[in-house]
Amino acid sequence: MSTILQLAGVTKTYGTLTALDRLDLALPAGRYVSLLGPSGSGKTTLLRVIAGFEEPDVGSVTIAGRRVDGTPAHRRGIGFVFQNFALFPHLTVEKNVAFGLENGEGRTMAAGEIRDRVRAMIDLVGLKGLEGRGVAQISGGQRQRVALARTLVTEPRLVLLDEPLGALDANLRMRMRDELRAIRERLGVTFLHVTGSETEALAMGDTVIVLDRGRIGQIGDGDTVYNRPASRAVARFLNCYNLFDGSLEGAAFVSAAGRFPVAAPERRPVCYGVRYDRIAVRDPAAAPAADEVRIEGAFVASEYTGASVLSFFALPDGRLVEVEDHLSHRAPPSYEPQRRYGLVWKRDDALLFS
Ligand code: ADP
Ligand code: MG
Repeated sequence: MSTILQLAGVTKTYGTLTALDRLDLALPAGRYVSLLGPSGSGKTTLLRVIAGFEEPDVGSVTIAGRRVDGTPAHRRGIGFVFQNFALFPHLTVEKNVAFGLENGEGRTMAAGEIRDRVRAMIDLVGLKGLEGRGVAQISGGQRQRVALARTLVTEPRLVLLDEPLGALDANLRMRMRDELRAIRERLGVTFLHVTGSETEALAMGDTVIVLDRGRIGQIGDGDTVYNRPASRAVARFLNCYNLFDGSLEGAAFVSAAGRFPVAAPERRPVCYGVRYDRIAVRDPAAAPAADEVRIEGAFVASEYTGASVLSFFALPDGRLVEVEDHLSHRAPPSYEPQRRYGLVWKRDDALLFS
């Protein structure tokens, strides 16, 4: 598979702050790529450096085999969709989408061809019938589609999306996830989609990149990142692992939460992780099986998140352990507040980070 984007040793500093730190990255062409990271990890800076709105202090940016650092943004063949996309409020849907083709530098496209392309793109993003509407007379979700169509109509090879669904309400966001993926598939280009939401990143990306303080914390398919986070930092951003800091003593990991037997550790772990949905809640009197780890926690509260329920249990030292019940697997749990429960997981389901 060919590489659409390659970054080598890219560093970007603002004063004493290092936003991107000797970052190396190669993106395969024709994929949906999610870029996940906490606020301030450098996601927007990375997109701006790729797009050419910022130049790196050091390092190179190569797009489709051509080195582009130093090349102005509009000559890089890249499309960009922001969270707070600005449309031209006095223009119709059709005129907004056509804008780049009619006004771009060195455009020589015939009016009829522009019209055909614009109509096809409006159709592709699901706005057929609204061509003549003013953009003030359509919904937020429809405006988002206009912004997308306006970018895609110029046929970029690489489309950068910076939290494009962030301004939409939850229902629309879910629908747009599927549509963005479908649109990308039809066009066959690469989307690099920045999101602060781990569920969005994992649901949408064929490839998921986790950014950690200006460096690549992990890159892989969603399953690998979800099941095998490369570090404690990545596991923390995924927001679905209970993490315990401690130390290894013989065949056990020891932390304030207890002593967890471990299977042949290869490294010197200082952190132990167990995913929210790998923990079973049992009667405190029930003994664990030989291959299980068990601690006790008092039930605090549950939170419904749509397809699952997240329950919080307090350990004796006060820290909270989170347990996720997928509603498709089990009936909704009904735990008794303040009652103590056994929290049990398989020894081999735990991850150790050094
Ligand atoms: P993210 O998009 O992941 O939230 P950003 O790329 O916006 O992160 O920012 C990364 C870091 O760089 C942050 O600490 C931010 O404050 C800093 N930063 C970004 N842009 C500028 C700028 N123009 N001037 C100074 N600092 C900046
Ligand atoms: Mg940002």
